[in-house]
Amino acid sequence: MQIRCAAVLAVLVLLAAGCALAEFTPAATVCGKAYCYWETPMDITDTEAVWNMLIQPMTVVEGNQKTQELLYAEPDQKSRRVGEVTCQSQGVHVLETLDNGWSLVECYSASNGNSRLRVWGDLVKGYIRTDKLVEVESRDRFGLVVDKLTQRLYVFGDGKLLTTLRVSTGAPTKWRPRYETASGEYHLVSMVGSFVDDSGLHSDYAIRFNDGDLLHAVPYRLDANGNKSYSRYEALLGTRASAGCIRVQRRATPEGINMRWLWNRLGNQQRTRLVIWEDLPGRQLSIPADDTPIYVHMSLSNYYHRSPECYQLGEKFWPFEPITYGQLEEEAYAHLTDCFCCNPPLRKKEIEAINAQYAAEAQ
Ligand SMILES: [Zn+2]
Repeated sequence: MQIRCAAVLAVLVLLAAGCALAEFTPAATVCGKAYCYWETPMDITDTEAVWNMLIQPMTVVEGNQKTQELLYAEPDQKSRRVGEVTCQSQGVHVLETLDNGWSLVECYSASNGNSRLRVWGDLVKGYIRTDKLVEVESRDRFGLVVDKLTQRLYVFGDGKLLTTLRVSTGAPTKWRPRYETASGEYHLVSMVGSFVDDSGLHSDYAIRFNDGDLLHAVPYRLDANGNKSYSRYEALLGTRASAGCIRVQRRATPEGINMRWLWNRLGNQQRTRLVIWEDLPGRQLSIPADDTPIYVHMSLSNYYHRSPECYQLGEKFWPFEPITYGQLEEEAYAHLTDCFCCNPPLRKKEIEAINAQYAAEAQ
């Protein structure tokens, strides 16, 4: 929490100095490496910087991908334990390598339900033995960014932003703070597939990125007739809803991409980078230009779309009618909501509401 306050303070100082835009980065501490995840602004519109960040090597802790190592307050195993790192899959920000065999690192703590330490997802700084750290190459075919602020997964391939998918990250409660999805940088480490949880919820196409935290398709229940029922969980996409996993939309975007598409392409792409941006207080979203193209089908769809060829309606209804983002403010389009397949930008008033909430939290 102290580090978070420092980051906000740093931004306020920048604003006071007359900078036009507050650039939030995951960490306030500088290591100096080019395109480091921790020092790349959380700005999805700068696709070149984001892609360069996604293909960088990552420093991980050696060990089994379902175990954690402790971080200590001092370079001494007898000192206070400040956080945990998941081995093999979780990246750490190396801040200092000491002569005595220890390194100072920071990361979002990976405590889980079985941990003795209970530091759930907080950004922590602590010491670990240098010989446990190893720098690992990342794949350069695909890269994934999950933003907890927008509840979106941005899919990158060969340097380009391919599409945007709706997700649900963890919804922590007072009694279950560990349901928060820890932010940070990760490698996808193993293909898990389909599983059923204790409550009878089925999930397909699961890929492990942080021990028990998986990327998988939006879950379903089986109804009395044995049919898959997605509606309850699909309606929650775009909001926090899970116990820590990242639920991903199963409906294809106009680019034909969904969780199954990712599963089919990432099976032989382990060490693909997945980064998760924290919804840091003070972060703000930009409002699209009024002339941004938007598409509608007024007689058959109560949604507005990002593409004239969206799978929300069948191909025989393509192409949809073009309007602009600015026209969404007109009365004729006031009843339309953002399509859950193609994920167009939110309405201006919705973005302003998010910005007001996060600006208020930064106070
Ligand atoms: Zn659509």
